[in-house]
Parts: sequence; C-alpha cells; structure tokens
Amino acid sequence: MSRQYTLAEGQPQPSNSSSVQLRNGHGGGHVLLQDTQLIETLAHFSRERIPERVVHAKAAGAYGYFEATHDVSDLTDASFLNTIGKKTKVLLRVSTVGPERGSADTIRDVHGWGMKLYTDEGNLDWVFNNTAVFFIRDPIKFPSVNRAHKRHPRTNMPDADMFWDFHVGNPEGTHQLLHLFSDRGTPASIRHLNAYSGHTYTFTKSDGSFRYIKVHIKTRQGVKNLTAAEATRLAGTDPDHLVRDLFDAIEAKNYPQWDIFVQVLEPEQAEKFNINIFDMTKVWPHADVPLRPIGRLTLDTNPRNYFADIEQAAFSPSNMVPGWGPSADPMLQARMFAYPDAARYRLGVNYQQLPTNKAVVPVYVPTQRDGFMTFGDNYGDDPNYVNSMLRPTTFKKNVVQAATTLSEKHEKWTLEMANAFTTTVTPEDYVQATALWHVLGREEGHQDHLVENLADSIAGVTHAGLLQEVYKVFANVDKQLSARIQAAVEAKKKGQADKVNAIAGSSGTDKHAMHTK
Ligand code: NDP
Repeated sequence: MSRQYTLAEGQPQPSNSSSVQLRNGHGGGHVLLQDTQLIETLAHFSRERIPERVVHAKAAGAYGYFEATHDVSDLTDASFLNTIGKKTKVLLRVSTVGPERGSADTIRDVHGWGMKLYTDEGNLDWVFNNTAVFFIRDPIKFPSVNRAHKRHPRTNMPDADMFWDFHVGNPEGTHQLLHLFSDRGTPASIRHLNAYSGHTYTFTKSDGSFRYIKVHIKTRQGVKNLTAAEATRLAGTDPDHLVRDLFDAIEAKNYPQWDIFVQVLEPEQAEKFNINIFDMTKVWPHADVPLRPIGRLTLDTNPRNYFADIEQAAFSPSNMVPGWGPSADPMLQARMFAYPDAARYRLGVNYQQLPTNKAVVPVYVPTQRDGFMTFGDNYGDDPNYVNSMLRPTTFKKNVVQAATTLSEKHEKWTLEMANAFTTTVTPEDYVQATALWHVLGREEGHQDHLVENLADSIAGVTHAGLLQEVYKVFANVDKQLSARIQAAVEAKKKGQADKVNAIAGSSGTDKHAMHTK
C-alpha cells in the first residue's frame, strides 16, 4: 500500500521539496510565513539533537536474545532463568566512556556494556563494563574521574597532567589503569570483548535466602584486541570501526555470541572473605570463587533506526526483576540513582514509555503520570493516590499488589556512619594489580604493550614532581614495571625534545634563508 506525504498533523502535503514563494520573475522569491511545511522543517531541524550522554556517548547497538542454559533454581527465582532453553529478548548497547558521540571508537577507553533484558517480569538492565573492576569505589568521585579523563576546562583538550594528577591522588584505581592500558583498552571489535558486572549483586529466592553474585560475559569469538598503533590508524581511517564491524557482522548473519557465568558467594562466605566484596576495585579470584554458567547471549538483529532504538535507550542498574537484587556496594547504590536521573534529564520524565525502553509486560503505575510527553491514556480516571495495603482504594477494582520481593534475611550488617573506606589506600589495594601484571606476563608481548601504552600517556605529563609520583604508584604494583615505564617515558620525552629542536632548527634555517634573500 502506498503512503502519501503529510504535514506532522496528518494534512496531505503535495510538495515537501519546494517552499511556497512570492516570485519576482527574475529567479528571486520571498518565502511565506504561511508555508507551514517550511517553518516546521527548519524549526524541527534545529531541535533534532537531544542532550548527549555525559558519559558513554559513542556507541553501537543491536537486538538479540538471552537463552537460559543451566538450572540455577537453587540460587534464584528469576523467571528469565527458571527454564533451560527459555529465551528473553535483549537490547545491547556498547560504548566508549569519555569521548563525545562523534569521536573515533577505537580510542583507548573502558567500554560500557548496557543491556536491557525484556523479561516476563519486567526489564532487567545490566549496566556493565568490559573490565571487571573500576577506577574508584566511592561514588562521590564519579564526576571527577570522568572529568579528569575528558577535556581540560581551559584548553578544551584531553590533558595528561589532569588525568595523572587524579589517578595519583586516587591510587585505589591502579588495578583498573592496568586493564585500561593493556591491549584490552583497545578491543578489535565489540564481538571480541568480554564484559563484567563489576558490582556485586544478589540472587534472591522467595524462601528469603540470598547469595552474592558477580556476572561474567565471555565472548565465544575469543578476546581480540588492537595494538595502540592499529587503534590510532583506525581512528583516522575508520572512526566508526566498532559500530561498522558489529553492524556488518549481523547483516551478514554472522551472529556474535557470549557465554554468561556467575560467581556465587554464600553470605557466610562473604563475611569471612579476605576481600571486601563491596569494593569495585577488586575481583573475586577465580581460584576462590569459580564461574558457574547460566546462559548464552546472541545478537541477531540490527536496529531499524539508530535514534529510536539506541540513542533513546536508557539503562539503569536499578532496573531489577524478582530474584535479582542489589548489594551494599556504594558505587552500585549511587548508580541506581544517577542513571535514571540522567535519563530523566536527557529524554524527559516519561522516558520509560518510549518504545525502546518499554517493558514487554503490562505496566500499571498510576501514581507515576502526567509530565512532558505523556503517551497513552495516562490511566484514565484511575486513582492517582495510594491507600494503605489494609484498605485498598474503593475506586479501582481488580488490581492487586505483587508479592513482596524483599528478602527478609537480606544483609544483616552492623553499621556505623563514617567518611567511607576509600580515604586510606593500603598495600592490599595493589595486590590484584600485581596479579594482573603477572597475568599479562603469561602471553608474549602483553607486558611490553602495557609499558608502551602507559608511557605514551605519561609522557604527556609536564610537571616533574607529578611524574615522580606516577612512578611511585606503579612501583607499588611492581618495581620492574615502574622502572620500565620510567625508562620508556624518558625515551619518549627525549624523542619529543629532539623533534621540537629539529623543527626549531629547520624553521630557524628557513627564517635565515628568508632573511638573506
Ligand atoms: P586467574 O589466573 O584465574 O585469571 C586471570 C584472568 O585474567 C583470566 O581468567 C582472564 O579473565 C583475565 N585475563 C587474561 N588475560 C588478560 C589480559 N590480557 N588482560 C586482562 N585480563 C586478562 O586469576 P585471578 O582470578 O586470580 O585474577 C588475577 C587477575 O586477573 C586479577 O587481579 C584481575 O586483574 C584479572 N582478572 C580477573 C578476573 C576475575 O574475575 N577473577 C576477571 C578479569 C581479569 P577473562 O577470561 O574473564 O578475560
């Protein structure tokens, strides 16, 4: 059936490619205010952009499905996991973090893994990263770490002094720096990266029991990374390399897959565990807490429209389903506020009604209504207030409260108020970074690449005192690592100085030549 062009309110539109003008007979013309299509075309164009995400702006995305592959009914009641073979529709959005929406996606960065599972008990969002840890463990530093990675307030350029000043002052993130500056900071494609919850979550059951979990997502394509040189070249020749690779693979029916695992700790184990399980700068060593498979992810459908499907998608760790709960990880708790807050700012207060965010199950929340861009019937004449559980409203029948999903046995800890555990950094905080340095030593070239990649960045530091502090931080990881970084930085700085001198020398000759002409 053919369609006809209309104005935005449905009136037939005979000509959308020429404006209505008063012509003067010599090729000129005065456009008319009555040309509604012209006015709306121009006005809509200047309003096309919505606020860019302050982090995670550049991304690729696709649809697919999660398939439960193992029985985990001893751990959780989550419906999407309760039958082997059960499939749940998924939207995945993978992004760099710091750079802007139009930036090259092979730039070294952590990669965000935003995934919405449209389950039969509402949406579950996994807002993970391609690294198992993070730079900070106190959420008050979240804006600061991101600003230090972005642009300097004066020069509007990324700034090595600012970056390293932050990290020297917050060395609990050294473990994550090793991940970032290893080759995993420049993945060869989205199909070839792993992802991790980083945070500790809980699996809960209706009998009131719960376990702590961390999620691991492992690529079935194998981990593959770019060297720094390849990533830099691609940033110039194909700045949308990651977006293109994923799109092309799915168009060619080469569907990428990941296996999904959890690490599980019983609450009693957690209390005795030698690592703070709420500290996002730490992993749970595999030897202590093995991986248990739960499912498989397959991406098989490209978005039909990037803006509607991917740009308007909003992910939040607060989107949880029965059987899946939060933990006392302070970073998780803060993100559960910050992510929906960012979506309300970026998309508007009714962003959950947008098709890409809309749950596939019926939604009934009549106490959340009105506001900009309310779609649908806005709950008609249903009460917009709550009564108590003891005496439901007289005016709405056949609506019941869901069974409670709160786990009564959940986390009985003794609490005292304090200015957090992040104020001190102890030798313990470097143990896992040292372990990673040794993991990199298992494969030829990986330690060399880490040293080179770090030195590339550190060589941009201009403040001599700061440089010494950077070396000291890495000496806490491994003395040899620090010495190698220092040697590489000094070589790069000498190379830079020689280059400047050569340019100055040659321009001096030119000036002289001009002068003597
Ligand atoms: P293991 O020796 O059991 O595991 C090391 C893990 O490191 C591997 O399983 C792999 O995880 C990951 N890895 C391998 N090569 C690289 C690389 N080039 N860059 C980054 N990660 C790599 O040791 P532990 O569990 O005791 O952990 C030792 C260190 O390994 C940790 O300090 C941490 O930095 C790193 N690591 C640990 C993870 C964990 O959850 N325990 C997860 C990821 C890294 P994978 O297959 O997931 O890529």
